[in-house]
Amino acid sequence: MSDQKLPTKALHAGHDTSLTQGTRAVPIYQSTSYVFNDSEHAANLFALSEPGYIYTRLNNPTNDVLEKRLASVEGGIASVVTASGTAAISTALLVMLKSGDHIIASSSLYGGTFNLLNVTLPRFGITTTFVDSSDPENFKKEIKENTKVFFVESLGNPKLDVLDLKIISKHAKSLKVPLIVDNTVATPALLNPIEHGANIVIHSLTKYINGNGTALGGAIIDAGTFDWSSGKFPEFTNPSPGYHGLVYHDALGPAAFIAKVRIEGLRDLGGALSPFNAFQIIQGLETLDIRMKKHSENALCLAKWLENRKEVNWVNYPGLSSSNFNLLSKKYLPKGQSGLITFGVKGGFESAKTIADNTTVFSLLANIGDTKSLIIHPASTTHQQLSNEDQALTGVTSDLIRLSIGLEDIEDLKNDLEIAFSKIKS
Ligand SMILES: *Cc1c(COP(=O)(O)O)cnc(C)c1O
Repeated sequence: MSDQKLPTKALHAGHDTSLTQGTRAVPIYQSTSYVFNDSEHAANLFALSEPGYIYTRLNNPTNDVLEKRLASVEGGIASVVTASGTAAISTALLVMLKSGDHIIASSSLYGGTFNLLNVTLPRFGITTTFVDSSDPENFKKEIKENTKVFFVESLGNPKLDVLDLKIISKHAKSLKVPLIVDNTVATPALLNPIEHGANIVIHSLTKYINGNGTALGGAIIDAGTFDWSSGKFPEFTNPSPGYHGLVYHDALGPAAFIAKVRIEGLRDLGGALSPFNAFQIIQGLETLDIRMKKHSENALCLAKWLENRKEVNWVNYPGLSSSNFNLLSKKYLPKGQSGLITFGVKGGFESAKTIADNTTVFSLLANIGDTKSLIIHPASTTHQQLSNEDQALTGVTSDLIRLSIGLEDIEDLKNDLEIAFSKIKS
């Protein structure tokens, strides 16, 4: 399997048809629980001495296929799927961190993630230093005794900054902290963070991987490359009171983290994915490769068109030669730069709102990565709750419009924007 290319893995990995009555499609196992053969069988399952299903919060045969397939396409050893991308992030962090620990994160993050790190986790004694990730040395500069993890997005949403993962991961390795990379915007069809040294990959499956805007989901994928036994992470080397004295590192070796995510993360935090959503996300994953090529092609074409519009002040798309991230994008995203574009309109906040209110092909909504084109004005919507300073930190300015370019005909997209531009009062 490992020699196969992504489009093949995305269609086949993780599904053994002999275990599903020969069904070619992955069936939906819509069951909360599983009948044990007898009490001894049940005891073995709970003791982890025999593989099998117990309860859908912990594992499920439909989710299992999705987990194996995602691990395969990202090049990880195993994965756990969750109810949303946000559940993936909070579960991953809460499984590895405790009160008193410190995170270093890129300041260019999805709004929800920024709030988790900036507001919610500090209430539990877990603090974050946000750094300008365009200089990877900043991660090294902010290191403290209690720093336990680096958190970044491979292609930041909505700043669309491409991170130099090779350098950041080198720093993480030398400082003995794991590097978590949220790869939602790039997707494994365009970039594999594990190839560049990431230890853990996060996805909001809600976006491109499902692709149709029909189901929320998330995933945590473990490269199995981080050494949890350095002394920085006693939770992995001391007997766990949460699982009758299991010493994760000794019992599970490279799989210590992802096992703890399932055994304690899903059990105690409860962010399990519905098997029905897993089924839908599997359908999306099957066509990811071909969709990402088209999303990228359409977005590059539209970005070039926007650069020549008189209503537009600036266009940010990593595939443009004018982009600050064009060099890094050539290195990390040679197959395509995904479907997000941001641009600034003359006339600022009011013009941006007018455009967002006057498209008909582009839908005004708070999502990305749909087959259908989407538009939003973050300063009045997704990033409205952030202070002006925090908006600036995450790269959101009042004139900024974010587009998520879908799979429509490119001429129809240009026409739609042209009509919306004509409504701006000058
Ligand atoms: C949407 C998104 C998330 C959160 O995912 P949900 O599935 O909406 O919870 C996290 N990271 C990035 C980059 C996202 O775009």
